[in-house]
Amino acid sequence: MRTYYIAGNWKMHKTRAEAAALAKALVTRLKDGKHKYLVAPSFTALETVAAIVKGSNILLGAQNMAAEEQGAHTGEVSVLQLKDLGVHAVILGHSERRHIYKEDNGLINKKVQLALYHGLEVILCVGELLSEREAGKAEEVCETQTIQGLAGVAAADLSRVTIAYEPVWAIGTGKTASPEDADAIHASIRQVVARLYGAEAAQQILIQYGGSVKPDNAAQLMAKEHIDGALVGGAALKADTFVPIAQFQ
Ligand code: PEP
Repeated sequence: MRTYYIAGNWKMHKTRAEAAALAKALVTRLKDGKHKYLVAPSFTALETVAAIVKGSNILLGAQNMAAEEQGAHTGEVSVLQLKDLGVHAVILGHSERRHIYKEDNGLINKKVQLALYHGLEVILCVGELLSEREAGKAEEVCETQTIQGLAGVAAADLSRVTIAYEPVWAIGTGKTASPEDADAIHASIRQVVARLYGAEAAQQILIQYGGSVKPDNAAQLMAKEHIDGALVGGAALKADTFVPIAQFQ
């Protein structure tokens, strides 16, 4: 059976003091949690949060990473710097990176390969725009993003990759994909992984759902066969909303 993996993406929110307060609350309230947990604060709060989650059952994540190891890349943050801070996993290909910052599948794949090469885990986000869903292309878009995002990833490294299906129209909008619609896309992503890496790898890979996950819809989503957890944005910013998602029944 696959583990459930609940990750909080804090986006561009929280000062160090605010991040510390939230991290402390989560460490206390999730200490008996049964699932896999991760929080991804801003780069500026990584060191602060690293010290708080160290030794707990909450992993530290980064929200992005440069495609190059190091060098003349003003404003970027490298995989080596993230590892130095104790980062365990990095979120790559988030829709805000794809659509606001115009990151394409080639760039995202370069980051995926670099993160894996340096021993990090990766959460690879895929998902369609509303116009793509309305044109009946949701599966096709997710398939392309999955195939191109995983290009060159060795089978031996796939256990360090989680895929997050995040329909762009559901992120931060309060609209959630129905559990049935989300599960259908998750199943199709799992089939893509099966084609690329075989049936066993496809059975094992974790596929999170993201897009307005809240305490009151988490359990219905998680009950679906192919939904293995959640990547949570807005509701991850408060312990009172993240904890019930993380402890969904
Ligand atoms: C996200 O940022 O990955 C996300 C899913 O955000 P929200 O939960 O706010 O829709």
